[in-house]
Amino acid sequence: MCGAIAYEAKPLNQKIDACHCEQCRRWSGHFWASVNSEFSSLKFVQGDDKVKWFRSSDLVRRGFCGECGSTLFWHPDRHSEYAHILGISAGSLNAPTGVKLSVHIFVAEKGDYYELNDGLAQKPGH
Ligand SMILES: [Zn+2]
Repeated sequence: MCGAIAYEAKPLNQKIDACHCEQCRRWSGHFWASVNSEFSSLKFVQGDDKVKWFRSSDLVRRGFCGECGSTLFWHPDRHSEYAHILGISAGSLNAPTGVKLSVHIFVAEKGDYYELNDGLAQKPGH
């Protein structure tokens, strides 16, 4: 949001996941929409030193802007199978993004204050 951080990354596909798990809701303020990328493809144009990482679980760390607090990254860095994946906030992407919201995940943990009726697939977990 503040522009301190800018980056580029290569998406694994053109799909955006909307995660309704309790952690993502608390972290983002609602559900968290992200595109999965190859962690090794992440390149900072500026502000790599502004990224703050928060360990949200034993296996996962979440990155945000230390200046304005914008949510940026979800990285399962301690998960041997998925450590190469980096989830990137869909809201942080510049248009045209080339990606589309395609699935709701962890709907079993979704908030009780909204309904999902956009016709997209819904998964109880991931
Ligand atoms: Zn989540």
